[in-house]
Amino acid sequence: MKERKLTPKISLLRLLLFLTLAMPLLRSADAGINGPTAAQDNLIVRGVLVCLNQGLKEASCGGNDLLGLKSADGRIYPLKTGKAAQTLKEEKRLQTNEFQLTLKKMNDSTTYEIVKSQFIRGGKLYDFYYYCDVCNITTYTPGPCMCCRQETEYHEKPVE
Ligand SMILES: [Zn+2]
Repeated sequence: MKERKLTPKISLLRLLLFLTLAMPLLRSADAGINGPTAAQDNLIVRGVLVCLNQGLKEASCGGNDLLGLKSADGRIYPLKTGKAAQTLKEEKRLQTNEFQLTLKKMNDSTTYEIVKSQFIRGGKLYDFYYYCDVCNITTYTPGPCMCCRQETEYHEKPVE
């Protein structure tokens, strides 16, 4: 008789277990729908760094140029002015003018924000970063450590 009383409880547990197992599946189905849209916000573009004039056309480099990434098919992606873009131009240790940038289109302008910078040298893709070994802090633009003001150290690493 005891067993019969337990049966409804077991069914309920089974139902709960089913729901618990099913929920992550439902969620991942949801993410599958949203995934491609989210990925479209970021563009990964390979190209060479070029200077741009006010009309966003490729121009010879002067002093305070706008910068752009020119892909192999000739498309120009103007880059948002800032330290991330300047670093690509000014960091001589990169020893290349070819980059793979992860870009995000700015809503209110024609420029792209740099989400991630990688460079290509001799056909190989590299990550680069600046590191403070005192504070164990990694940054992606050069200069003194934001924490202890000691100069950060340049590092580069081939992408596997
Ligand atoms: Zn530091």
